[in-house]
Amino acid sequence: MGLPGPRPESPAYPDLTKDGRATVSGVVRTSSPEVAARRGHDLLDRILAGTPSCPVTHVEDVPARPGRSVDWPEWVPELLVDRLVARGIARPWEHQAAAASLAWSGRSVVVATGTASGKSLAYQLPVLSALLADEKATALYLAPTKALAADQLRSLRSLVLSSIRAASFDGDTEPLERDWVRAHSRLVLTNPDMLHRGILPSHTRWAAFLRRLQYVVVDECHTYRGVFGSHVAHVLRRLRRLCASYGAHPTFVLASATAATPAESAGRLTGLPVAEVTEDASPRGATAFALWEPPLTGVLGEHGAPVRRSAGAEAARLLADLVVQDARALAFVRSRRGAEVVALSARRHLAASAPEVADRVAAYRAGYLPEERRALEAALATGRLLGVAATNALELGVDIAGLDAVVLAGFPGTLASLWQQAGRAGREGLGALVVFVARDDPLDTYLVHHPDAVFGRPVEATVLDPENPYVLGPQLCCAAAELALTEADLPLFGGQVAEAVLPDLVRRGLLRHRPTGWYWTDRRRPDLDIRGTGGEPVRVVETGTGRVLGTVDAWASHSTVHQGAVYLHQGVSYAVDDLDLADGVALVHEDTPDWSTSARDTTDIRVVSTLRSRDLGDLTLHYGTVDVANQVVSYLRRRHLTGEVLDETPLDLPARQLRTRAVWYTLSDAALARAGIEPADVPGAAHAAEHAAIGLLPLFATCDRWDIGGVSTALHPDTGRTTVFVYDGQPGGAGFAARGYDTAEGWLRSTREAVASCECETGCPSCVQSPKCGNGNEPLDKAGAVRLLDLVLSRLRP
Ligand SMILES: [Zn+2]
Ligand SMILES: [Zn+2]
Repeated sequence: MGLPGPRPESPAYPDLTKDGRATVSGVVRTSSPEVAARRGHDLLDRILAGTPSCPVTHVEDVPARPGRSVDWPEWVPELLVDRLVARGIARPWEHQAAAASLAWSGRSVVVATGTASGKSLAYQLPVLSALLADEKATALYLAPTKALAADQLRSLRSLVLSSIRAASFDGDTEPLERDWVRAHSRLVLTNPDMLHRGILPSHTRWAAFLRRLQYVVVDECHTYRGVFGSHVAHVLRRLRRLCASYGAHPTFVLASATAATPAESAGRLTGLPVAEVTEDASPRGATAFALWEPPLTGVLGEHGAPVRRSAGAEAARLLADLVVQDARALAFVRSRRGAEVVALSARRHLAASAPEVADRVAAYRAGYLPEERRALEAALATGRLLGVAATNALELGVDIAGLDAVVLAGFPGTLASLWQQAGRAGREGLGALVVFVARDDPLDTYLVHHPDAVFGRPVEATVLDPENPYVLGPQLCCAAAELALTEADLPLFGGQVAEAVLPDLVRRGLLRHRPTGWYWTDRRRPDLDIRGTGGEPVRVVETGTGRVLGTVDAWASHSTVHQGAVYLHQGVSYAVDDLDLADGVALVHEDTPDWSTSARDTTDIRVVSTLRSRDLGDLTLHYGTVDVANQVVSYLRRRHLTGEVLDETPLDLPARQLRTRAVWYTLSDAALARAGIEPADVPGAAHAAEHAAIGLLPLFATCDRWDIGGVSTALHPDTGRTTVFVYDGQPGGAGFAARGYDTAEGWLRSTREAVASCECETGCPSCVQSPKCGNGNEPLDKAGAVRLLDLVLSRLRP
């Protein structure tokens, strides 16, 4: 189906009320259970009507699930039961009561169930019961975003338990209010960043609160992954250590999206033994889950490869179509700029086809200023907005469920996120539609052609590595600055790993070692950004007005707000006039060009040390430490929708150094020759195999392809052989490369599958081309990559 989008009065889109439905405040209610269950399929049919070739590769019926409720545990006070019943919660679901009772008995517990399964009640029951039973007891609630904490606060305040005095404490809290919170609140809602910067360093002012701390709630704990997760793991250990110094040993209650081995991940995050509750007993509506591969555009891209319509362009059209159907719909888009583009182009479709609803579509993403976020949240809550394009910020931040449709523009990085996002659609007795639109890359293409990989396999484990020395070193400094470190503290911070890191901190003059322990030497506190991206964020400022539009993190600024970049904010696009790295400012002016920009970089890699290896003769597989030198050197201008490359402009940005972890394999020349790969074809085969492997690793580790990088070479100076590297894109590593090493066979087997099964002839973005290739996707040899991967697999498991 072409543009503009469908009109509600067109014959292909009959009025929904004809099937006996009535529209109430923008939500279609249904008259019978059968019709309700079909709702998702109906929406899909309407969207597909008139589409020339069907882009849907598979529709999975996710059946409705009846709920299982139980009696209120007898330890929950009557007052609390009354308030919850008054709020419409007649009885708890089985999983809520199970997790709550474990926590009440003093066992740390993680509840890992689907979106909208009521995980909040699992921690509210023990926490509020404890605070009601002991008028001096306190509890701490941690959320990854301010928006989520604000949501929790609203929910808690609606229970009108005034003696608890729940209050948020974050970057938006005014100084006077902070004093009040410290002095009076018994349930403080905050985030790990604030705990790290604002609470732990001034723990003496929090002494009364910490001394009586009974519970620590860690909400959405699966988001603490990679380097950030490793930092949060230490922030929680620092909290536990300070509490212990005041005589408190709080119980942890964690809530997670569905994930593999949640107890193990929660244990790594908190450093405590954690019990798990994973069986979801909440009811769910039937969902039609469609896998969608955008059609080819007919335009040829880099090196003559066929180009598909972008997932963003498809998502924008789907969002517009759904809004026209009066369906409340949410499109999840990977990047900030993607969400802006999707909202903008959905509005353009609607301006042409259904102008009366065009202003009911908006973009929502993290990085907005607080007042902008609140305005958008309010519009969503009141239903003034029907269609929203969001980044992962909304995956967590806002209490939105029971939507009619969810569109996923591209794989959200993990299956856990995919189910989390999909779970926003549907409610009991009302069917819903979920559409996963593939981007033009190997992983997405693999998924839409292998439904089993989406619906038939367990979600991945949350990966974090508290032993990363680049995380541990600064965290030990923070801990020592709070309270001198003693020998007895070391087991909490990794034991031997901490012992290995401490002498270096002493040598660098950061810590002083005395008989009583390790002391922080500076008057000022250690300056550490636990988001782990290095350096202060770059402010994006409008030239002329001086208005701050938002921020971009330092590492990403080279590729997103370099001179000449097109940067989008709130649906408005800006051109970057200048990036001043010294002042941390990007100057921009409003401009709406017909193209987007993408940065190019070069990468050089050296092996520092090998930590683990497998020597299989012709093949060796390694995991270890590497030095990566990276420089953003130019950018491409690409035409919207088609992705056609217009030109390339050089940039003058400094090189950056990264010491990190990598997984790599080497192959002997003789084996390559026997596998039928001519020496001249080796660089292209290895390069293509590297790109595809980067694309598929996210299926095994909780990373996405932008968290990792790769380098391949026919002769690497450090190995003397053909070598393919895949490395963690963060200093010290994040655990992704380690996971690649551990799951090498499964990972490289799906990589081989993805390349071999792609319908293109010589390579395309769905298999071996990469959007972030520093070499302009040259050379690439698709057939050679299949032979090379066959060779690797034959050695890994002969
Ligand atoms: Zn292909
Ligand atoms: Zn490349």
